[in-house]
Amino acid sequence: MNPGKRSHGLYRQAREVTPGGVNSPVRAFGAVGGEPFFTERADGCRLRDVDGREYIDYVLSWGPLILGHGNPQVMEAVAAALERGTHFGTPTPVEVELAEKIVALVPSVEMVRFVNSGTEATMSAIRLARAYTGRDLIVKFEGCYHGHGDSFLASAGSGIATLGIPSTPGVPEPVTRLTLTLPFNDRDAVDEAVKRHGDALAAIIVEPVVGNAGLIAPDDGFLAYLREATERCGALLIFDEVMTGFRVALGGAQARYGVAPDLTALGKVIGAGFPVGAYGGRRDVMSRIAPEGDVYQAGTLSGNPVAMAAGLAQLEILERDDPYSILEERAGRLVEGIVEAARRNDIPATGRAVGSMFGVYFVEGPVRDFQDALGVDRDLFGRYYRECLEGGVFFAPSPFEAGFISTAHGDADIDATLETVDRALARAARHE
Ligand SMILES: *Cc1c(COP(=O)(O)O)cnc(C)c1O
Repeated sequence: MNPGKRSHGLYRQAREVTPGGVNSPVRAFGAVGGEPFFTERADGCRLRDVDGREYIDYVLSWGPLILGHGNPQVMEAVAAALERGTHFGTPTPVEVELAEKIVALVPSVEMVRFVNSGTEATMSAIRLARAYTGRDLIVKFEGCYHGHGDSFLASAGSGIATLGIPSTPGVPEPVTRLTLTLPFNDRDAVDEAVKRHGDALAAIIVEPVVGNAGLIAPDDGFLAYLREATERCGALLIFDEVMTGFRVALGGAQARYGVAPDLTALGKVIGAGFPVGAYGGRRDVMSRIAPEGDVYQAGTLSGNPVAMAAGLAQLEILERDDPYSILEERAGRLVEGIVEAARRNDIPATGRAVGSMFGVYFVEGPVRDFQDALGVDRDLFGRYYRECLEGGVFFAPSPFEAGFISTAHGDADIDATLETVDRALARAARHE
């Protein structure tokens, strides 16, 4: 589709002063062809761009906005916090409240430290795991994205998958050698890695539901197997729940699947659209963090009171309303509708919803790991994507990203989306 006039102009301006015109690569729409639109404002499940076009939003700030845009209670909490100031560089009461809330709701988290992004959370968790175990190696899984820390950019999903960058220049080779990458859902590969490298392994880090390669759910027992394998060799198990935390269940994937990691990385939903991350876990491990312990990690704006107030308000609503079964039901209906529409047009498709996350791949399926996901027809996806956008539906601009729904998405929004999707798939299949 053609971008609106104002979006197009802004994009041209932006590219002069910012690499690629965006502040995070996937926003540039490189994987789907075309140009990004610039947003003017948003309300509930709808975004309006600077040219006045409206979209039903399934990106939701890439995950944080589980209550949709501009939730009144969240906005009120933000306004009240702002009234008191922006940031003080001293502890504030709301940091304690949010920490207590997270400790109460996330089963394995006994202590938590706030940072400013998911990337910081996973980087800090790995540093802590290395310090605690006195070991250097980490295991990650293909297609899992853990932010842009040096150690994590081997075979990462998300933007890296979208852009087809195998790793990235600027990461020293000796650093990449400390990260072993295995296929997701592959117990034999884990077993082999633990046999060969167990003595040197600091941690296994995993997205318990992979949301940065589309959406890949763990096979029955896979997460429990990781728990056993790490216990066997004395490594820590880190769940990167930056996306799944408070999204697939109130207590995150660890509550949903009943597996307790040693450390957990959080972000996105806990900040309600503000730059917030956190890592937490076992008290004896977290106690190693400075100033209680000897592992340094700090942040000028960490625990920012406006961000904390927003996150706390959002978590309080989630706890009070427990919307997860309704969200999963709606996301499930959306996925089924997309898969059926694809099949009507002779396009192979498979998909699923986990809580308020969903993913559809235009392949036969099943998709159990990143290699399976890579079978998607990217040209077809691009045509489909552009038609959806034209029809007022905003999905993440890549075949390798999960979609999100919020409590602001009603049944009528899902129905309207499915009508657009149906038309988009028909046209994409006919190369119109
Ligand atoms: C988004 C994401 C991150 C990175 O968080 P940022 O806030 O973008 O740094 C890390 N891990 C997972 C699983 C994510 O989805």
